[in-house]
Amino acid sequence: MNTAHISDEDWGFGTQAIHQSRSSLDQSRSVTMPIYQTSTYTRDLDGNALQYEYARGDSPNREALEDTLASLEHGLFAVVFGSGMAACDAILRRLHPGEHILAGHDLYGGVYRLFETVYRPQGYGIDYCDFDSNGTWTEKIRPQTRVVWLETPTNPLLQVSDIEKVAQEAHRHQLTVVIDNTFASPYLQNPLSLGADLVVHSMTKYIAGHSDVIGGAVIGNDPSWHDHLTFLRNAAGPTLGPFDAWLILRGLKTLALRMEQHCRNAEQLVEFLGNHARVGEVYYPSTHPVSHKQMRRGGGMIAFVLRGGTVEEVYEVLRNLRLFQVAESLGGVESLVSHPATMTHSAVPEKERNRRGIVPGLIRLSVGIEEARDLIQDWDNALS
Ligand code: PLP
Repeated sequence: MNTAHISDEDWGFGTQAIHQSRSSLDQSRSVTMPIYQTSTYTRDLDGNALQYEYARGDSPNREALEDTLASLEHGLFAVVFGSGMAACDAILRRLHPGEHILAGHDLYGGVYRLFETVYRPQGYGIDYCDFDSNGTWTEKIRPQTRVVWLETPTNPLLQVSDIEKVAQEAHRHQLTVVIDNTFASPYLQNPLSLGADLVVHSMTKYIAGHSDVIGGAVIGNDPSWHDHLTFLRNAAGPTLGPFDAWLILRGLKTLALRMEQHCRNAEQLVEFLGNHARVGEVYYPSTHPVSHKQMRRGGGMIAFVLRGGTVEEVYEVLRNLRLFQVAESLGGVESLVSHPATMTHSAVPEKERNRRGIVPGLIRLSVGIEEARDLIQDWDNALS
């Protein structure tokens, strides 16, 4: 028995049951951080400054996660939120009605929905463009433009933009460059080192990695952004609970190992799909030359077109899969498959979807860390 945890006080059973573990949190020398599952912290009546007061504002588990994330993304700070969408929204709230955002046209459907149904009706301007290497996107910059917002690799078509080039051009116009790095994860790509101003993550995905928690993060270097984000988190309350922060930090510890296996499996599946008669175009980041400049490997996401595929034909194929589970989301240890046109991107109008290449036959895979040969077998069966 570890007697170090036993109190000297002559407390009753009920009091001990509540207070016994309190001192042990500081003295246990536990190898992993305890979960500070508390909403509030006791006041110091001597008037000393307190590190923690109320958990909507600060909490040790969130801070531990933020310190780790900031260092992994090469930033000065990280601020975590209750979801990836809350993290995106917290950034946008620094803008004012009348100001303008230039966003990549291949975006997560939820971010598109946030722009179109929350911000545009309040008088914000939003335009979409391709951040490709010919730089024509700069023609869409207006005097009111404040932010350039892009995903790379994109969702769902896995297009890659040259972050360094976009940031150089954007900074010539004093624009803030926001990169959604969810698909790459901090293991494969570090946009701040390439000139971006802010990195946003849905930590729900690769960072947490086990499909069991929702969370978001913003990482950056400019203290004024840190002040805005932490103020907003406390004032508006889109916070991340201690247990969720603890779970995400636990997941983050195995990110490098998981990403290597996601990449290995995805590379083998890309080869298999590329040679299959029923498969048309296959989208994978490392087929873009610029990906080698900024990404360590291609990642775990693949998209492909079922040749001539209607929604019904796609669903028929999905019904035949045994390992790949049909679900939204990505980045977990288990393989998932989704149909962007009827799932993640159903909020995007059909005409707009088709224009962007999100056709009815498009299938998106989040390749897990199972055995590659089993995953290939699953698709071999389903496609035949
Ligand atoms: N950004 C990207 C690229 C995403 O894929 C998602 C969710 O799928 C989000 C942001 C939103 O994150 P969350 O679901 O954690 O709110």
